Amino acid sequence: MLFQISEKIVRVMKAFTEPRIATKDIVKEPAHKSPIFRGRHEIKYELCIGCDACNKICPVDAIVMKPLPIKKPKIIPEVNLAICIFCGLCEDVCPTKPEKAIKLSGGDIEMITGGTHKDLDNFWVRVDVPEEWIEQKKREEEEKARKKKEMMAKKKAEAEAKKKAEEKAKAEATEAKKEESAEQKNASAEKGEEK
Ligand code: SF4
Ligand code: SF4
Repeated sequence: MLFQISEKIVRVMKAFTEPRIATKDIVKEPAHKSPIFRGRHEIKYELCIGCDACNKICPVDAIVMKPLPIKKPKIIPEVNLAICIFCGLCEDVCPTKPEKAIKLSGGDIEMITGGTHKDLDNFWVRVDVPEEWIEQKKREEEEKARKKKEMMAKKKAEAEAKKKAEEKAKAEATEAKKEESAEQKNASAEKGEEK
């Protein structure tokens, strides 16, 4: 009996002395991070090939593909972290090697906002592609297209020359055959006259 009373007293003392969850100011505390949280997205425009795989696999449509005025990458992902569930599928599916063009390693993100629509802009992982890089890419693509055109023209000329040579050889062979059979005919005619 005495033991039960002292146990109750200890419980009541604890209830008064230990901080209670309901009275904690959780808004001012840093958000609890899961031990497997890999951070926000890091997107490298230099590595991206614009395959759209990250966008297609995203289960919650958190990715929007931004168009670029070049052929590769033609599009590049931007992520809305307000929708993202940090599953990492976009990183897993990204085909670039050895480094992924999109990966969840960009450090922590504070997910608490003032609650206005303007604040939601902070949740976007945007990609600022420098204008000089775009211009350089355009020049490279033009050079590549020019070389490809030259190569095609060369291949076509070679194929035509080969075809002509084959036709010529064929015509010569037919002519030689004709001459041979004419000679044979003459020889057999001469033999007949001798008899
Ligand atoms: S981590 Fe998951 S939810 Fe977030 S953008 Fe990538 S695929 Fe979508
Ligand atoms: S980030 Fe990766 S998966 Fe997404 S478009 Fe670029 S290359 Fe493709």
